[in-house]
Amino acid sequence: MSGLPAATSLEDLEWVPRQRMASLRRLGLQTLGDLLRHFPRRYENRIKFDRFPDEASETPVCLFGIVKKTVYRRFGPRRIFEARIEDEAAGVLGSPLICRWFNMPWVQKMIAGDQQIVVFGKPRVRGNQVVMEHPEFEVIEEDAERSLHFDRITPVHPAGDGVTPRALRVLIHRAIEETDLKTIPMLWPGNTVSENVWREVHFPESSEEQESARSQLVREEFFGIQLVVCARHAAMRGLGGTPKPADGTWWKKVEASLPFELTASQRKVIAEISADLASPHRMNRLLQGDVGSGKTLVALHAMLQAAEAGWQAALMAPTQILAEQHYLNFRRILDPLGIPVVLRTAARKESSGSSSGGTPDATPGTGVLPRGDATRYSKRNLPHFERPWAKYAVTFSTHERKALSEAERDIVLRALLHEDGRKYLLYAACVMPDHVHLLIEPSMDDAGGFHPLAGILHSIKSFTAHEINKAANRDGPVWEKESFDRIIRSESDLQEKFSYITRNPWDNKIVPANEDYPWAWWPGRDDLRGAHASRVSDPASRRIPPLVIGTHALLFENAGLEQLGLVVIDEQHKFGVLQRSRLIARGDAPDVLVMTATPIPRTITQTLYGDLDVSIIREKPAGRGKVITAVRVTSKLPDIIAFLRDKIADGRQAYVVYPLVEESEKLEVKSARAEFEKWTELLAPARVGLVYGRLDPEEKELVMREFREGKIAVLVATTVIEVGVDVPNACIMLVEEAGRFGLSQLHQLRGRIGRGAEKSYCILLQDDPGELAKQKLSVLETTSDGFDIAEADLQLRGPGDILGTAQAGLPPLRLGDLLRDGELMTEARKTARALLESDPDLSKPRHRHFREFVDATTARTEIAGS
Ligand code: ADP
Ligand code: MG
Repeated sequence: MSGLPAATSLEDLEWVPRQRMASLRRLGLQTLGDLLRHFPRRYENRIKFDRFPDEASETPVCLFGIVKKTVYRRFGPRRIFEARIEDEAAGVLGSPLICRWFNMPWVQKMIAGDQQIVVFGKPRVRGNQVVMEHPEFEVIEEDAERSLHFDRITPVHPAGDGVTPRALRVLIHRAIEETDLKTIPMLWPGNTVSENVWREVHFPESSEEQESARSQLVREEFFGIQLVVCARHAAMRGLGGTPKPADGTWWKKVEASLPFELTASQRKVIAEISADLASPHRMNRLLQGDVGSGKTLVALHAMLQAAEAGWQAALMAPTQILAEQHYLNFRRILDPLGIPVVLRTAARKESSGSSSGGTPDATPGTGVLPRGDATRYSKRNLPHFERPWAKYAVTFSTHERKALSEAERDIVLRALLHEDGRKYLLYAACVMPDHVHLLIEPSMDDAGGFHPLAGILHSIKSFTAHEINKAANRDGPVWEKESFDRIIRSESDLQEKFSYITRNPWDNKIVPANEDYPWAWWPGRDDLRGAHASRVSDPASRRIPPLVIGTHALLFENAGLEQLGLVVIDEQHKFGVLQRSRLIARGDAPDVLVMTATPIPRTITQTLYGDLDVSIIREKPAGRGKVITAVRVTSKLPDIIAFLRDKIADGRQAYVVYPLVEESEKLEVKSARAEFEKWTELLAPARVGLVYGRLDPEEKELVMREFREGKIAVLVATTVIEVGVDVPNACIMLVEEAGRFGLSQLHQLRGRIGRGAEKSYCILLQDDPGELAKQKLSVLETTSDGFDIAEADLQLRGPGDILGTAQAGLPPLRLGDLLRDGELMTEARKTARALLESDPDLSKPRHRHFREFVDATTARTEIAGS
């Protein structure tokens, strides 16, 4: 069969009405091929219509009848058009249907008495009439095209302003006739798709025919998605990473110190991740595990492996509270083993000013550095000046300006570097013969405060004084009092101090321009004079902190992350492809582990996370208490309060979660206050604490700490506690207006309890819930399995919410349904994988169209994300 190429523009066809051109373009239809890929959104069986209903129904029905009477009425500002439709076949015995349209004056122009009409909608009962409001409708005309619209399974295509489904049907029918179907680009490998699919999908003769055509096309569509994600996966593997083998010395110590055994699931995923890290591939992995399944330890294992192999590893949490909790957790485990971990968050109240990304090149001692290329440092080593944390330029002199010997200078420099990365970060230091310069930033301590500068200086000075005196067998003062500037936010100020300190020996002509001064130090100038010689093998004293914890925001800064080998992203199901690709673009090419506690249905995993390898923790640690979930109305509140008081009297703790008011900060604070006061009163004398998103971070941390320590009995909170917070003694959760939360979100919330051996209670407060809310809450009452809940969530919400395809950088879904067509997705994935295995970069000539498709989709993603 010959015909026009699919790429033919609709403008070049005289049978496409000019006046429809703009409307078609708005629907994205420009060529014959576009028309053919404009698939029906549903079909109407116009051979056998539904019977005229005499009661309401949630399932829409498709009816055929005669317009008997039309009325146009005004009700104040409302205009109502009504058409009374009767079933000809049923005659006088049939009950008529009233169709109503509000404020749609054009409908009146389209419908007139005695017309044959098809309507589609949900019947309702109003008074004693059966009514359809705003039904879809189509007037059937006695014309040449009648056979296209009537007496058949009729497609209803997505229509738009200026082009009706009826008009589209005519155009698409013509397009099928005129197009050389062989020229429609097909993505499916092989020739398994017959040319008939186009007619069969648009104008099927039976529903079997339609189903089979549809599934061929869905298969192709899914193959496109899989081609993109699998190509991304292959490209990622091909990028190359760095093998990070480690003999697990640190981990063994950690494991030995745990009060419990790892679950078999934990062991399994640890092995998977460990092998991945040790391989020369770049890791890009998703770790799924229900709340409380013990993902944090798996993350810790991975981080220790990377660190042991000589890299920095970062754990990024979505909230401040979580980052801090992980930090404390890690410290509890790691401190006894002498493995340092630092917390880097942007929590301080000062904002980071308007620092632009471009750090000017300020190479200290340019031209005077003695060792040429070997000691030149790159921009990478520049301290990150825009940190909102306080940095200080400190100077202190020797007592009476007595000169330090070289050995004494060694002592001082070594002492300075000793606590670097733990109590403070050192940006630059220079031990001059009779004084010392430092550029220093105190680190956060356990309590969420900062190590005081005075204390830091005191310990450095007294330690070095002691050492120096001991070596010289003498006594007496070594140092004078220090002077310091606090540097606030000004990048140029810091630059200047940095240069001043690092070039001090040369500027002061202590050493000639071409000679080294080994006691001037800055990051990247590590091993001069062996000051660091012992550090590489001794984790406790590495200059760059091996384990860093922060919030997601920090991921895209370089703050203190100069040798990033592994990034673990915690609790983030919305961490999209774009963000991941930004990570991948980092110069240090870190391995990536994304952890999510929202179990994701398999079809979605294969799609949204199709470019990731997946590890799943299936079982939860044993010995967890049971969680009982119940939905209650607010009139039961007095009983619930009594129950809460009982439990609190027994020393238990509880969460009260209320829905977030998001409109404005003022409103948020107001509603938080109101909740707090309400519960304080209801539960007096128990101590109640309050946390919400915009609460001052220091206050938040204080409240969280007191809750963890059991000083606060009840924590009133928004969903900021949704993820990760771990307080085993808290065994009651009360959720207000539970129906307003999503199913997965409620499951997450509930995951905060049932962490100890106690029986736990989750009470979902909800007054007369709608149908959806009722179903949602009853799912929670009946199951606690995260995967089941995720499936149910998908069923209830539909996949649209979850799969923002634009955001995920995937081709759009036109036909496929992630709920129904899971099998086809799995099959498409196999096919795509096999293809990419034989040709990883799709460079074979016969795969050119695949390559082009992947590139085009990727390009769209980048535009969307830029
Ligand atoms: P999640 O997967 O939700 O991040 P966590 O890693 O926070 O879970 O672990 C929840 C709690 O379970 C923590 O208190 C942790 O110490 C504990 N835990 C982890 N693994 C085990 C285990 N194998 N046996 C018992 N408790 C464990
Ligand atoms: Mg967690």
